[in-house]
Amino acid sequence: MKIICIGRNYEEHARELNNPVPEEPVFFMKPETSLVLKNRPFFYPDFTTDLHHEVEIVLKVSRVGKHIETRFANRYYDEIGLGIDFTARDVQAKAKAKGLPWEKAKAFDGSAPLSKFVPKNTFTEMNDIDFHLEINGETVQKGNTRDMIFSFDEIIAHVSRYVTLKIGDLIYTGTPSGVGPVQKADRLTGFLGEQKMFSFLVK
Ligand code: MG
Repeated sequence: MKIICIGRNYEEHARELNNPVPEEPVFFMKPETSLVLKNRPFFYPDFTTDLHHEVEIVLKVSRVGKHIETRFANRYYDEIGLGIDFTARDVQAKAKAKGLPWEKAKAFDGSAPLSKFVPKNTFTEMNDIDFHLEINGETVQKGNTRDMIFSFDEIIAHVSRYVTLKIGDLIYTGTPSGVGPVQKADRLTGFLGEQKMFSFLVK
């Protein structure tokens, strides 16, 4: 199982980090050891002092596919969840400045808390799904999939040109604006529409 993450898929978020708006999807990967399931606590790592939340809709791949056409891409996932792409922003900034890869900032243990999944037919329109993240009860990030630069189907088509998708693979589809730091003792709660999807503590 692999975890594929899309970077800079919401224009406002790209701008808030002074990144150019991409012309094609940017992706990177996290290992299986980055997952935190079942609302288990997240442990603040010792190598960062600027750990950021990025709330993202997550697709679960349901069929094996390579070179998937955009028009058929919706057949390759059945379920949708919500996750956090935790990012050590200070570590990432150093890596970016030197043109180095992002794994230390993005792929560390616990960097991908993940909710339960709901069937995608819970939603009538893939390009109109609201989601938001609360920290200690206050909304910090709010998104709607209509603001994605690349749709779920375009992401699947693009990624599968490079990497074969397999059943159970996860695709984090990018974060809206409003990313920011978390602190120990914060409680992060994520919602898809009105439905609470996860709630966990930072320790
Ligand atoms: Mg992200």
